[in-house]
Amino acid sequence: MRIGIVGGGQLGRMLALAAYPLGHTILSLDCNADAPAGQVAPLIVGGFSDEHALAQLAEGSDVITFDFENVPADSADWLAGHTTVLPGANALRVAQDRILEKTLFRELGIPTPQFAAVDDQSSLDAAIEVTGIPAVMKTRRLGYDGKGQRVVNSREQALEAMDQLGRSDLILESLVSFQREVSVIAVRSQTGEVLSYPLTENVHRGGILRTSIAPAPHGEVLIGVASKHIERLMNYLDYVGVLALELFDCDGTLVANEFAPRVHNSGHWTIEGAATSQFENHIRAIAGMPLGSTGMCATSAGMVNFIGGLPPAGKVLEVTGAHFHDYGKLPRPGRKVGHATVTAADAQGLASSMAVLTAMAESIQA
Ligand code: AMP
Repeated sequence: MRIGIVGGGQLGRMLALAAYPLGHTILSLDCNADAPAGQVAPLIVGGFSDEHALAQLAEGSDVITFDFENVPADSADWLAGHTTVLPGANALRVAQDRILEKTLFRELGIPTPQFAAVDDQSSLDAAIEVTGIPAVMKTRRLGYDGKGQRVVNSREQALEAMDQLGRSDLILESLVSFQREVSVIAVRSQTGEVLSYPLTENVHRGGILRTSIAPAPHGEVLIGVASKHIERLMNYLDYVGVLALELFDCDGTLVANEFAPRVHNSGHWTIEGAATSQFENHIRAIAGMPLGSTGMCATSAGMVNFIGGLPPAGKVLEVTGAHFHDYGKLPRPGRKVGHATVTAADAQGLASSMAVLTAMAESIQA
């Protein structure tokens, strides 16, 4: 099949690298001529709302998908009028609006932090009644990697956060006191089969994912709960492809933060750590092919993000069980430019390789 991808970032690149062995071709659309996906497959250079570029993509694709959730949903609708778009624009629409997203979680019985919309001072007071203080003020739309949010410890700080974040179209959430962050990633086929990957434990700093390990320690019961949550969400959205659900683990209760209607950074370990990577399974799902096993092919696996710059590939590859992934991006502070995946025969082996790789990643960020 000819697969189109709106967005040519590292996720698009890794989707392309998974698609070709299955006999598919890739065409991606990105506003940057040096987008990572364009280094491995043809790229149309244009904006996500540029009808000429969208038409070119639609003409050249049997099915279109996304590597980025903030593609205007109207563009997804326009594309759906011309070719098959998977997942559908409805999933993007919900994921793009934190109020719609958390309202849906609640309707589906998936626990969320307390939350309320904030558009002015009176709605702020009503929101604080709901969430209490401390709380997190976030923009309703277009937030990612911790951007567009502030922790607030008083009404005064909440007012300041409103000024900083644009005064309206905001959401106030209770500040969740969690033990750790985890995510569940699943794939849903065109016939409605859903397969979940093992639960992943994630460490964020400054709102950016730093490391992931799978399976999450002591996650045997939690993965059952998380899989039910994600299956309900995917069935409701009639979703096709890979979706990631980010959760807070609060003493064994999972509280949903957000979902991403796409392959996800916390699933990069699946490239070498799972029988079928999240990228391959996304391609299989949207192309109408049978899904592959989401089981692990090592006892433990992990991922370390390289942010702001890459260590030498040779140094990374010296680490036991490590694999190197370069996204072909120019280094810039705060920019994800690559990652290492590790597989190990036991948790101790994983921990020691992860420690070496994390030190390498941190020496570049410093
Ligand atoms: P987000 O942009 O919503 O993914 O948030 C980025 C990070 O901020 C999360 O991974 C958490 O570490 C933290 N965070 C977001 N929302 C909350 C919350 N309601 N309570 C506590 N921490 C939060």
